[in-house]
Amino acid sequence: MPKDDRVIELQPNIFLLRGEDSGSHSYLIRGDYKNVLIDSGLDKNFPKLQRSLLMLGIKLRDIDIVINTHEHFDHIGANRYFQDYALIAAHRFAATKITVEDRYVTMYKSSDLNEPPLKVHLWLEDKSRFDLGNYILKIVHTPGHTSGSICIYEVTRKLLFTGDTVFAGGTLSYIGESGSVGDYINSISLLETMKINEIYPGHGAISKTPEENMQKAILNAKALLRDEEGVEIAHFQEAP
Ligand SMILES: [Zn+2]
Repeated sequence: MPKDDRVIELQPNIFLLRGEDSGSHSYLIRGDYKNVLIDSGLDKNFPKLQRSLLMLGIKLRDIDIVINTHEHFDHIGANRYFQDYALIAAHRFAATKITVEDRYVTMYKSSDLNEPPLKVHLWLEDKSRFDLGNYILKIVHTPGHTSGSICIYEVTRKLLFTGDTVFAGGTLSYIGESGSVGDYINSISLLETMKINEIYPGHGAISKTPEENMQKAILNAKALLRDEEGVEIAHFQEAP
């Protein structure tokens, strides 16, 4: 296989496709039954995403499902290249923002939205599942960063795709227009009850210390509520 340092095989048939310039990462899961892409990333990063997929032998039409971790533009921007072939899936609170082009919440600039409307075919709920044969994905609704934020739990290997909800080191992301610090703390407390081996976030490094990251994230969120100075907010350019 040709080398591309933007592509990392994290598990058999699970690949990190690294985002650039503050665009989110994408993750490819080559399933026995269906191929899933988690987040499409920034629109402008699409040519690089396409090249990485092609290197893995995946053409656009081979992606069956795109799951968006939430409604921010840097995670859904390239959906439009997939939506005529693949099913686009997002939590229903994200779907309502994406489909009406709610710029306040998605943070699109007006100049970015002169393209065909973004579609969401599958409106997800907490506990929705995708059976891919070799992998099983379970949706966990984790509002906080935004109202429509989800984490995607891979049941067989206990992996968690976290979008902007949990980052390595417990660094917080910006709490968005539809988000809530209270919901965020509640969501992380819920995740803390789950057995998780590795965290695959939307930006920055992957993590093999989920418990520490989540404890730190809760401490950071509580500090944010107290208006403490020096609470770490994520910068999205760290290399994994
Ligand atoms: Zn976000």
